[in-house]
Amino acid sequence: MTTERPNRQAAEVAKGVYLLEIPTPFSVGPVNLYVIKGERLTLVDTGPLTDEAWETFVAGLKSIGIRPEEIEQIVLTHHHVDHCGQLERIRRVSGASTLAHPLAIPYVEMDEDFLSFHDRFFYDLYKESGVPNDKLIIIQKYQKLMMTFSERSRIDAPLKHEQTVPGLPGWRVLYTPGHSQSHLSLYRAEDRVMIAGDHIIKRISSNAFIEPPRDQSAARPLTLVQYRTALQMCADMEIDLALSGHGEPVVGHRELILQRLQRNWERTDMLRHLLAEGEKTAYELTAMLFPILYEKELPLTLSETLGHIDLLTILHQVECRKKEGVLYYSL
Ligand SMILES: [Zn+2]
Ligand SMILES: [Zn+2]
Repeated sequence: MTTERPNRQAAEVAKGVYLLEIPTPFSVGPVNLYVIKGERLTLVDTGPLTDEAWETFVAGLKSIGIRPEEIEQIVLTHHHVDHCGQLERIRRVSGASTLAHPLAIPYVEMDEDFLSFHDRFFYDLYKESGVPNDKLIIIQKYQKLMMTFSERSRIDAPLKHEQTVPGLPGWRVLYTPGHSQSHLSLYRAEDRVMIAGDHIIKRISSNAFIEPPRDQSAARPLTLVQYRTALQMCADMEIDLALSGHGEPVVGHRELILQRLQRNWERTDMLRHLLAEGEKTAYELTAMLFPILYEKELPLTLSETLGHIDLLTILHQVECRKKEGVLYYSL
């Protein structure tokens, strides 16, 4: 639980864009929602499904003269529950339509077939990563989290990279995967403002979470490679202000991105040094890279380790052999 108390007053952070800070029960702290007064009254992200989040949301809207019923459409930056948990609650009172990347659909709509594949995917991944059997229970936590802090909803219109956001002329969609497969950002060229979700955050480095592929027969997406590439794409753009999903806005995005890429690469180097000592499983490497965090935050830390292994694999700097169903890596 966070003790931070979000501000219940919405603040205009760019022309016609209002920030609403919503509490979450997660260690990340409050989540930022944005209201855009455009042709259609648009809400970007919703916060988690808690009464505290709802009350803060209603109070924040009220401070700028809006009632929840007036929201016309909701854009999701990605499918994590801190960003979309309250979606159905807001839709019920407003009748707003939902716009999101198509890869958010199976999560938001809680597609049972996909969710059972999701758990099978992680079971296989954890087994081959060398995760001990008594730790596999953690896989069930994901759906529990989803059922507690969100409810089944729907997406009415898919958003694709480079398209203009319906009802928001001047804003275009940037597909920025890595942190999540469904992650998108919004960009307004006129004043170089970006709504960056969890792609660019000032105080914390976004984790490139491993997620299953949408197509069950496809290979696992290389999330850290995606994340680094999508950061590079943003570094190449002119962005005066990046409005993040958590924490304060980012000015000087290039310095921040360069710092993220450098720190990230330092960890890749650390992993390479660990492998120089002899072959190891992804789980063993995770315990060595994150000795304090790995037991409590296994999905996060194992994602990170696998991401660095992916990078080294692409660069032909790591070899892998399978022994009794477990993958062992060496230089
Ligand atoms: Zn997220
Ligand atoms: Zn988030």
